Amino acid sequence: MDQLFLKSVPILELIEKAGFEAYFVGGSVRDYILGRPINDVDIASSATPLEIKGIFPKTADIGIEHGTVLVIAESGTYEITTFRTESGYTDFRRPDSVQFVRSLTEDLQRRDFTMNAIAMDKSGNMIDPFNGKRDLLQKRIITVGNPHERFHEDALRMMRALRFVSQLDFELDQQTFDSLQENGPIISEIAIERILIEFEKLLAGAYKTRALSLLLESGLYQYLPQFSNQKENLEKLLNLPLHHLKAAELWSVIMIYTNAKDIEAALREWKLPLKTIRSVQRIIQLAKKEPPFENSALEIFQAGQIEAVQAAKVRAVLTGRNVKDAEKVIHQRFNELIIKQMSDLTVTGTDLLKWHQERPGPWVKEYLELILKAVLNAELRNEKDEIKRWLEKCNLI
Ligand code: ATP
Ligand code: MG
Repeated sequence: MDQLFLKSVPILELIEKAGFEAYFVGGSVRDYILGRPINDVDIASSATPLEIKGIFPKTADIGIEHGTVLVIAESGTYEITTFRTESGYTDFRRPDSVQFVRSLTEDLQRRDFTMNAIAMDKSGNMIDPFNGKRDLLQKRIITVGNPHERFHEDALRMMRALRFVSQLDFELDQQTFDSLQENGPIISEIAIERILIEFEKLLAGAYKTRALSLLLESGLYQYLPQFSNQKENLEKLLNLPLHHLKAAELWSVIMIYTNAKDIEAALREWKLPLKTIRSVQRIIQLAKKEPPFENSALEIFQAGQIEAVQAAKVRAVLTGRNVKDAEKVIHQRFNELIIKQMSDLTVTGTDLLKWHQERPGPWVKEYLELILKAVLNAELRNEKDEIKRWLEKCNLI
């Protein structure tokens, strides 16, 4: 068993000793069977949140209304969720009520896909009433029960199906796909914040092109922010080397290919954090610059290494050049910069104030930028005396 499971076995044992059941469930069991790395384990138990709190001295109520308690043990923290069923999905999202139950099978039945509905006990035995392991080995994503009903209970599951395609390179079961195709409009009932989490996982997945292709084929794209009339533009993405691109780079490419007029408004609709929006705006601006920003030491310096690399990759995609090569070149250019940060400059504002008998003002910043530019362009050496003489020669001091 994986280290993470082994470390958590004493937690299951304590719950069992108190007379309840406890299992590993969800993504960790799925990834373990697939031999993929596991980041965290989820534990499900027949004990109610109150009962869990009676077993462990230190807990935190992180989602107690859904049955989740955080156990804080010496070996780490563990999320323990009470077996539950859900009912009354009147608005295609989240249940109206959650009922705690004592049956593991009922808990597994409320889960989205068969591969996510496998439980494992402390000895590694699998409890798999919906044949999740078979579907995992056949690389099939298939809802637990009728897909139409399951998508109507919670339309986010449609996005989840596609993000699992992107992460795992699985196929959608035909009936599950047909239902996804039929039920696209109900995704509009889901909060964008929840859709964004799944869409960003889709964008981060190794098989994103395949997932995006299914997003288009199923028609689901039409009900996502900004995408409604964009089929042709979005299809162009499928021919790009998307696997080389990370989140902000992908958002940049998406904005460019969908001809977003107002990038900020478009990304705000997607509920992206403002920091990311600003970064995407800068990347796009740099990537589209003519002559190319990569030719200017000053522009590479001003962009900083991270955004310079991102913009160079986006530019490579736009111009049909090799992304990896573009990335290598820009790293090299950055490493060759004579100055990598402002503090590398041998002259400071204090020096300028000493040399030039003027009151402090905007001129200090302007002078520093002039010096910076000359040094970066190798027109001036980064040495204090030389810089002073250069300023004198230019009649600036
Ligand atoms: P990841 O590795 O990305 O965390 P995961 O499968 O663990 O993938 P989570 O969102 O962490 O995904 O959810 C944990 C488990 O909860 C899932 O494996 C699934 O059993 C169940 N689950 C999550 N979201 C839903 C949903 N919308 N409907 C039904 N079951 C869900
Ligand atoms: Mg998880």
